Amino acid sequence: MKNIFISDKELNNYGETNTFSDKADSLLSHQKENWGLVEKNFRNLDSVKIKNIDFDNFKFKIQFNPSRITSTSAKVDKKSIENRVCFLCKDNLPETQKGIKYQDDYVILINPFPVFKQHLTISHIQHIPQKIDSTFKDMLQLSFDLKDNFFVFYNGPKCGASAPDHFHFQAGQKKSTPIENFYNGLLLNYGEEVYTNNITKIYSVNHSITKFIFFKSSDKNELVNLFNTILNVIKIQQGLASEPMINIFTFFDNSQWKVFLYLREKHRPKQYFANDDTQLLISPASVDLAGLCVTPREDDFNRVTKEDLKDICSQVLMNTDKFEKIIRNISKYLSDKNEKVRF
Ligand SMILES: [Zn+2]
Repeated sequence: MKNIFISDKELNNYGETNTFSDKADSLLSHQKENWGLVEKNFRNLDSVKIKNIDFDNFKFKIQFNPSRITSTSAKVDKKSIENRVCFLCKDNLPETQKGIKYQDDYVILINPFPVFKQHLTISHIQHIPQKIDSTFKDMLQLSFDLKDNFFVFYNGPKCGASAPDHFHFQAGQKKSTPIENFYNGLLLNYGEEVYTNNITKIYSVNHSITKFIFFKSSDKNELVNLFNTILNVIKIQQGLASEPMINIFTFFDNSQWKVFLYLREKHRPKQYFANDDTQLLISPASVDLAGLCVTPREDDFNRVTKEDLKDICSQVLMNTDKFEKIIRNISKYLSDKNEKVRF
């Protein structure tokens, strides 16, 4: 059977192995040395073009990144997925791709088409579908284990995951997205408290360009319970049998997890499908919603405006009425539950 795992001993030739952040750094050095595609795509990131588009208390960083074309334009309908070879199954990984064993069920890989100077894909060792309810606890543990240098994100199966059939998270270099810099100001100016106790606080943020539910907590189990409760309230309100359309972005700092839950209306905006000069190949997922918007074509990078971004976000994020209704329901559900617990 193919062995994709790299040992600590081998990693030690490339750097430290004390923490998972260290190991990931060492793995990146190993892959740059042994896999030309990784060397080239990470080197190209040094000269990537960036432009900023400012909003009140938020900004978008637009990144022109040609290596992302496959992911941005990935066909994720059932038929296309069935007809392609899964690029996350271990038997299909290139010979040169190696990974770090994580817990019993995951492997930490270098993403060969990076958006960040350090960019990981953490995939399940089994070919099982993208689905967050039973794995959110793993996401929190992962963001804790990678806390020195990484945030962790999850794209729902219909919200930007290019392998919706194979469970995976991704991780990127901390302090490389606008949301990490701007969230305190967003909470202060646009945040409303949804739930609070001594350990965990939940807010909603409803801003003209971005909307999300924000959690902070130092208690992993409580956070997992509250998160799954909220996901369930959304699922019931929307009459869904499967997971609501979501993206999740999380990191651990100052002894707390911070979680951003983005509720989606659709996967791709109309500009993506346009056949004329209004076409913009922008397919938003967690990273784009966190303010780092990737355009794989230079023409789109040059053309995209503040108005385009506003329009795209208003299409792909849940509309304000629905969002506020969901927040009211969550708030009511959690306060009712609290009352019951108390008496
Ligand atoms: Zn697979």
